Amino acid sequence: MFNAIVIDKDDAGYRAGLREIDEAQLPEGDVTIDVAYSTLNYKDGLAITGKGPVVRKFPMVPGIDLAGRVVRSRDERYAEGNLVVLNGWGVGETHWGGLAQKAQLKGEWLVPLPEAFSSRQAMAIGTAGYTAMLCVMALERHGVSPDKGEIVVTGAAGGVGSAAITLLSKLGYTVAAVSGRPNEADYLRGLGAAEILDRSAFSEPGKPLARERWAGAVDVVGSHTLANVCASTKYRGVVTACGLAQGMDLPASVAPFILRGVTLVGIDSVMCPRPERLEAWERLVRDLDPAKLDVMTTEIGLSEVVATAGRLMAGGVRGRVIVDVNR
Ligand code: NDP
Repeated sequence: MFNAIVIDKDDAGYRAGLREIDEAQLPEGDVTIDVAYSTLNYKDGLAITGKGPVVRKFPMVPGIDLAGRVVRSRDERYAEGNLVVLNGWGVGETHWGGLAQKAQLKGEWLVPLPEAFSSRQAMAIGTAGYTAMLCVMALERHGVSPDKGEIVVTGAAGGVGSAAITLLSKLGYTVAAVSGRPNEADYLRGLGAAEILDRSAFSEPGKPLARERWAGAVDVVGSHTLANVCASTKYRGVVTACGLAQGMDLPASVAPFILRGVTLVGIDSVMCPRPERLEAWERLVRDLDPAKLDVMTTEIGLSEVVATAGRLMAGGVRGRVIVDVNR
């Protein structure tokens, strides 16, 4: 038997709770893992609270990422004792996920834990940090270097935002952080933000084109915020879009794209091909300051997950939440 968060949906409604599960019930998979840490991402918050249609099969163990130790493997790339990391691939949505003491997964979904990180650090990074890295890599790929100008990061005090600020500032970019939490200004400056902007300046309908300011952007918010970020991006600037914290809509005009040659780059961490994942994790080893990781991380146990998911959805959680699944 092992402990897991389980989401049910039936005549009694949608609910999540801590439960004991028989190992024989683990889903099909060629690698069995003793999970050490998982995390609470925005998507896990949506799944656990039922605020978004993330879970496609019930009962479901949520948790879109995990780090742990292989206990059994039919995949020749992994042997007992290997330390591994998982992000995405529909885990925690259609396949039982990381908010449990055990997981059974496809070997092709896993990446080896980088030697530089402990399982705990890998989960402090988690899907949020790996996605922030994918955004940074996309900015670089599209030619946005630090000398091109300022980068704006929205949803700054959240997981992806915090990691993006940390990475960009270490790489020499000047970062403006957009946040709805003025009381987190010192935290954001500590991560490397040069300036803090109130999110209310971005969240309402704006003009098709605004004053050109950003060389690049990491947007986790979507909706009017993304539209306003595009409208204020400089000629040939690049906007990476990965999130929907304000909304899934994009009430924008084509003006920034056809008059300023702005590029909008979509970022998906879930089905991202393995070579790019491995590159992102290598880059995280090189470009993420571990001391900053501690500053942005809160640790909880499995029994605190459901309550914390509610707080996350209400915007009351700063940075990253890692979950020690064994307490
Ligand atoms: P968090 O909850 O940690 O952070 C989200 C942040 O967005 C909040 O901290 C808040 O920042 C801001 N925010 C929340 N609500 C609103 C609102 N109504 N209007 C404007 N800003 C708001 O989530 P994550 O960082 O884990 O994820 C952020 C987004 O990125 C989510 O939408 C998530 O689904 C998406 N995501 C996508 C991935 C992909 O593969 N494409 C992978 C990972 C995440 P502040 O308090 O500073 O204002």
